[in-house]
Amino acid sequence: MKYSAIILAAGSGKRMQSSVKKQYMEILGRPLIYYALHAFEMSRVDEIVLVVSPGDEEYVRRDIVERYGFKKVSAIVPGGAERYDSVYEGLKAVGGQYVLIHDGARAFLHNEIIERCIDDVERYRASVVGMPSKDTVKIVDAGGFVVDTPNRALVWNIQTPQCFETKLIREAHALLQAHPDSTITDDAMVVERLTEVPVHLIEGDYENVKVTTPDDIRTAESILKSRGF
Ligand code: C5P
Repeated sequence: MKYSAIILAAGSGKRMQSSVKKQYMEILGRPLIYYALHAFEMSRVDEIVLVVSPGDEEYVRRDIVERYGFKKVSAIVPGGAERYDSVYEGLKAVGGQYVLIHDGARAFLHNEIIERCIDDVERYRASVVGMPSKDTVKIVDAGGFVVDTPNRALVWNIQTPQCFETKLIREAHALLQAHPDSTITDDAMVVERLTEVPVHLIEGDYENVKVTTPDDIRTAESILKSRGF
């Protein structure tokens, strides 16, 4: 098997302020997580490992994976406390030589980005999707004062998929499990901190955002409608 995807849906989604967990909220009549699953189901990826909150496995299998007929889902596994713990659990179930790790809340992923990921990771072993920053970025101290302003031409906002040779990311995540660090917020950081392999950037799409707050729902509906959903 060559390409696996891990879709992360084990977050608490607190910023959505909703009684239904964010990943299951309906957008155009389908749960948010449907859209990321659909993108990978229609792609060249061979299998999908879905990471969900502990206890949600049966609901997700029945009401999402079986209901919508996703055939590539090979495992539904319970996640952990931090995002990187959820990735670690997902990695245990992956069979492909390469893995594309994706936030389930990024509903606007499309096949062209997945294709770029596959080409790039075969060449560089560690490749993450992002976009050049449109805003100037400041580094501040704990008191709220600016300490540095990086050259904007070199600043990127990072998205997912984040793509790796499976052996490389497994080894890096095993090291992180031995020395947990809650400042690590994405998988590229795990490779940057714990391996010698440089991480290459892939240009994604400004629309490839995370659906996070209630305001995002209406925007999500209009983007998805424009994509034919
Ligand atoms: O918290 P953040 O927005 O960075 O989460 C990104 C993705 O990681 C979301 O899809 C969320 O469901 C997932 N996540 C997870 N396990 C956690 C925390 C976040 O699967 N413990």
